[in-house]
Amino acid sequence: MPDVLIIGGGIAGLLTARELSGAGASVQLLERGEPARESSWAGGGILSPLYPWRYSDAVTALARWSQQAYPGICDELREATGIDPQYLASGLLIHAPDEEAPALDWARRHGYEARIASRGEIRELEPNRADPPETMLWLPRVAQVRNPRLGKALVKDLEGRGVQIRARSPVEALVPEGTGVRVVAGGRSISADAVVVCAGAWSRKLLEPLGTAPAIRPVRGQMLLFRTRPGLIRHMVLEEDRYIIPRKDGRVLFGSTLEEAGFEKTTTGAARQELHEIAVARFPVLADHPVERHWAGLRPGSPGGVPWIDRHPEHENLFINAGHYRNGVVLGPASARLVADLVLGREPVLDPGSYGFSAERPATP
Ligand SMILES: Cc1cc2nc3c(=O)[nH]c(=O)nc-3n(C[C@H](O)[C@H](O)[C@H](O)COP(=O)(O)OP(=O)(O)OC[C@H]3O[C@@H](n4cnc5c(N)ncnc54)[C@H](O)[C@@H]3O)c2cc1C
Repeated sequence: MPDVLIIGGGIAGLLTARELSGAGASVQLLERGEPARESSWAGGGILSPLYPWRYSDAVTALARWSQQAYPGICDELREATGIDPQYLASGLLIHAPDEEAPALDWARRHGYEARIASRGEIRELEPNRADPPETMLWLPRVAQVRNPRLGKALVKDLEGRGVQIRARSPVEALVPEGTGVRVVAGGRSISADAVVVCAGAWSRKLLEPLGTAPAIRPVRGQMLLFRTRPGLIRHMVLEEDRYIIPRKDGRVLFGSTLEEAGFEKTTTGAARQELHEIAVARFPVLADHPVERHWAGLRPGSPGGVPWIDRHPEHENLFINAGHYRNGVVLGPASARLVADLVLGREPVLDPGSYGFSAERPATP
């Protein structure tokens, strides 16, 4: 079994570490800050791409595999660590009146339960949605996880499995050595049989000096958290690219913005106001509940939202699992399994062709 060094302790890095250590590899993970505090903390935890029919089959394949794996992963993590990632099949309502036919067709082709809900049904499902639209698409099985808890549970689980997680350990460079690379961190050189870059939005920065690098860019997303009571909002609801996510304890997330702001992770007053106005216009009851928190995260943006999961074309021991854009939580388990398959030389669980350095990526969404 190889010894593996993983760079980045977000969902991608932690799930990759879990796959590889589960297969018997000796795994070390280097994280620049604290694990699971960047995009993987900031995200909403919806276990489906938004408007999922707009994505390529490459994204759907990773989502489908992961969606089936999530209940089991969450059960295992809760049992092993006592931390509950709060997997909850709260269902997703989507307003997309012009796309109902392609959406239903996509659902049929890929085996998802989906139907059109009438205004009366929307009122029953979500009584606090003011003036609901005439119809919405209803995907009753779409689930969510509480991603900060998922991150904490993964860290504790990995520590229990003997994975060495080194926080506050930024990797400074990848240096070519023979047919592969070595890693420089804290002024020290580290060699490993395999190095896996899971550095999210920062992955391109690490790989660029080596020549071939993925077109991953930071895309900022801001989110509001309301403190309400359980049951006030019951389901996830997506309209005009803004969504609401009710947690079990009554907290409600409302997001999110899509901003090209480089590596600037600050929040803005304009986004706070815009999100608050839309949230209250749709759910007037929210006006009576305080905003507990407002944050921003940097998504690892990629063309078509298709991640890079591949061996580097020029450096034999170098791999990548990054660029999951808006869907890193839902695509995480399958991506981790696939990159582990490539590292270990196993039969890949999905066809890796669509996620390679040489794969053509669609421009949208
Ligand atoms: C507002 C918002 C809402 C979202 N909602 C959802 C959702 O509902 N569902 C969904 O599936 N996805 C969602 N996402 C997307 C999802 O959060 C990301 O795709 C996912 O978290 C990416 O995981 P990652 O591990 O690749 O990146 P990250 O979580 O960003 O982790 C990368 C890690 O690498 C570390 N790192 C970087 N450079 C170095 C270095 N040189 N050395 C060591 N460590 C380094 C960073 O510190 C970081 O911890 C959302 C994102 C945002 C911002």
